[in-house]
Amino acid sequence: MFDKSKRLFTEAKNYIPGGVNSPVRAFKSVGMDPVYIKSGKGSILHDLDGNEYVDYVCSWGALILGHADDRIVRKVKEYSERGLSFGANTEIEVAFAGLITDIYPSIDMIRMVNSGTEATMSAVRLARGFTGRSKIIKFEGCYHGHGDCFLIKAGSGVLTLGIPGSPGVTEGVAGDTLTAEFNNIDSVKELFRANKGEIAAVIIEPVMGNAGVIPPVHAFLKELRDITAEENSILIFDEVITGFRVSLGGAQELYGIKPDLTCLGKIIGGGMPVGAFGGKRKIMEYLAPVGPIYQAGTLSGNPLAMAAGYETVSILKQKGVYEKLEETSGKLEEGIKENLKKLNLSFTSNRVGSMMSLFFTDTEVSGYRSASASNTELFSSYFKEMLLRGINIAPSQFEASFVSTAHTNEDIEKTIKANYESLKRLL
Ligand SMILES: *Cc1c(COP(=O)(O)O)cnc(C)c1O
Repeated sequence: MFDKSKRLFTEAKNYIPGGVNSPVRAFKSVGMDPVYIKSGKGSILHDLDGNEYVDYVCSWGALILGHADDRIVRKVKEYSERGLSFGANTEIEVAFAGLITDIYPSIDMIRMVNSGTEATMSAVRLARGFTGRSKIIKFEGCYHGHGDCFLIKAGSGVLTLGIPGSPGVTEGVAGDTLTAEFNNIDSVKELFRANKGEIAAVIIEPVMGNAGVIPPVHAFLKELRDITAEENSILIFDEVITGFRVSLGGAQELYGIKPDLTCLGKIIGGGMPVGAFGGKRKIMEYLAPVGPIYQAGTLSGNPLAMAAGYETVSILKQKGVYEKLEETSGKLEEGIKENLKKLNLSFTSNRVGSMMSLFFTDTEVSGYRSASASNTELFSSYFKEMLLRGINIAPSQFEASFVSTAHTNEDIEKTIKANYESLKRLL
C-alpha cells in the first residue's frame, strides 16, 4: 500500500537528516514510515502510491480553504507572471497590511516575514529592545517555532519526540526563558514576583494547539492581560495557528483580549511561506528603519505570498464562512463523542472552532501535564487504523486536527465511521 513512499523515504535518509525537512514528518512517534504526497485538492490528498485520504492536517492548519483552492491558485498564477520576487516594495503588501490591521484592532502596524518562527523571534527581540529587559515567560507545551529561546519545554515536535532540554541552546539563552503552567495564573504571578522588573514579555498560544488543542480556562487570558499591564511587560499572542482560525479576528477576538503584539503565520500565507508580527504603533516603531531594532528579510513580503494571503483573507471575510466551519467541525466532534459513548470509552475531546484533538486519556486536558498523561501508544495504533481507512490526521497525539471550508458532509460521515471502526479495533 505504501511501496513508493517507503522506497523514497529510504533514499531520502541518505541526503536529508532523518529523511525530512521538519521532524514530525518522519512519523517516528507512530512507528511507521511516512507517506509521500503527490497532490491535494479541496479536502482530499493523494499519495505517491495512489492512496486517497480525507486530510485533517491541511498543511498544519495553513489551508483553511483546503488544498489548491481555485481562487488562490488563480491569484498565485496571475502574480507569478509578473515576477517571483523583487526584494522591493509592491502594491499588494500594502493592501494586505491594511486588510489585516483593519481586522485586528490590536494591530496598528505589521511587518511580514517568511515563517512563524521568524515572527515570534522578531517579536521577542522587539519586546526586549522596547522594554530594555531580558527575560521572557512562556508556557509548558506551547510551541513558538524553533527559535533558541522557545525550545524550553516546548510543544509540537519537541514534545512528540520527547526532547527534554535543547542541546545547542546556550545556558544564557535558556536562563532567560522562564516557563509557567498554562491555565495557572498563580504560576505566572510567582515568576513575576521572583523576577521583578526583569520580564520583557509573556508569549502564549491563546488557545494551545501544539500539545493538542487546549482552550484557556475562564478569565485566564484576562488575568494575563492584567498582570502584564501592571508589570509593564509586553503580552505577545502567538496566533500563528489561531489567527483567522478560531474566528476571523483570532483568539483575541473570540476571548476579547487585546495583546500588545501578535504573531501570525500559516493561514495568512494561503499555503505560501509567510509569517507576520504586529501590534501597537509605539512598539512597532522601535523597528528599523524608524527605530533601532534591526529586523529584515530578502524575501519578506514576497508578492506571491502576499497575493495568496490577501486572497485567502478576503474570502474568509465573506459572510457565513466561520459559521459553516463551526457547523462542520461541530458535526465531526459530535460524531466522535457519540462513537466514544457507544464504545463505552471516556477519552477526552477538545475543540475550539475548527481545531480539535482527541486525547487518549480519561481526564480533562487543561495543560501540558494533563496532555502528556495521554496514552501515546494507543494514539499510534489509532493513527494507523485511520490512515488505512483513508483519513489523514497529524502523526502525533500532540497536534491538532484542522477542518477546512472544503470538507463536505460526506467527508465528515466517512471520518466518523472510520473513527468508530478504528476505536473499536483498539479495544
Ligand atoms: C507553526 C507554529 C509556529 C512556527 O511557524 P513556522 O512557520 O513553522 O516557523 C509558531 N507558533 C505556533 C503557535 C505555531 O503553531
